[in-house]
Amino acid sequence: MKHLFSHLKEVFSRIEKKPVFLFLDFDGTLAPLAPTPQEAFLPANIYNLIKRLAALPMVRLAIISGREMNDLKRKVGIEGIIYSGNHGLECDYPEAAFGTKIDPLMLKRLSDAGRKLRQKLSAFPGVVFEDKTYSLSVHYRNVPVAQRGMLKQMVESVLEPYVKARQFVLEQGKMVVEVRLDMDWHKGKIARSLMDRFPGSTPIYIGDDRTDEDAFAVVRPQGLAVFVGDHNKDSQAEYFLNDTLEVQKFLEFIDNHFRQDR
Ligand SMILES: [Mg+2]
Repeated sequence: MKHLFSHLKEVFSRIEKKPVFLFLDFDGTLAPLAPTPQEAFLPANIYNLIKRLAALPMVRLAIISGREMNDLKRKVGIEGIIYSGNHGLECDYPEAAFGTKIDPLMLKRLSDAGRKLRQKLSAFPGVVFEDKTYSLSVHYRNVPVAQRGMLKQMVESVLEPYVKARQFVLEQGKMVVEVRLDMDWHKGKIARSLMDRFPGSTPIYIGDDRTDEDAFAVVRPQGLAVFVGDHNKDSQAEYFLNDTLEVQKFLEFIDNHFRQDR
């Protein structure tokens, strides 16, 4: 992986003056990670920057998150961009939405499992549980370190029958266990689906977590895949940025790039 700022020339020679499709993750990419998901927020300067970028004719912008789409929209609050929640299952670009095709029985099964989980989670102080309709999240950032192993074991054992029956998959994120439906749909699929609807743009995907890897793999052959965090040899991304401040800086560069000679 290459530090993006050490290869700025290369990056912008690939972008040229052709339209770009910016795909941005939210938590850990635009918004600094917070003690709980509720406390995370979009810093004012990134909010303004995204608004400016969204107004540029050469830039299309989508925010793709594991959050529920309505929660994501509230957190960002900008019009004229595409929102996708639940790791791509929800999308407000209607033709690209996939969640609407899901059998309601599968969602019922997920919410039943969520109820079972919630009861058992009450034994762990600090845990934040979210039922997001299409997926569940168990955040354990505020759970005492000594109890985290037990917590994860409990989650795994409650969900084991569903995982064995290929109904759910568990995915480890940053201080969170994500419970998703076992289906061939993820952040990479929604990115691909949106790219196909707007051909001719260079895709740029920026994200910081495991679930972003699917999207890096999709975007990289045609555009730029950018990981946020310390150099990570296991990532499929070609470039990395260290933190949300560097993401902001890169977005400013893109904004300037398309404002020149206008
Ligand atoms: Mg993230």
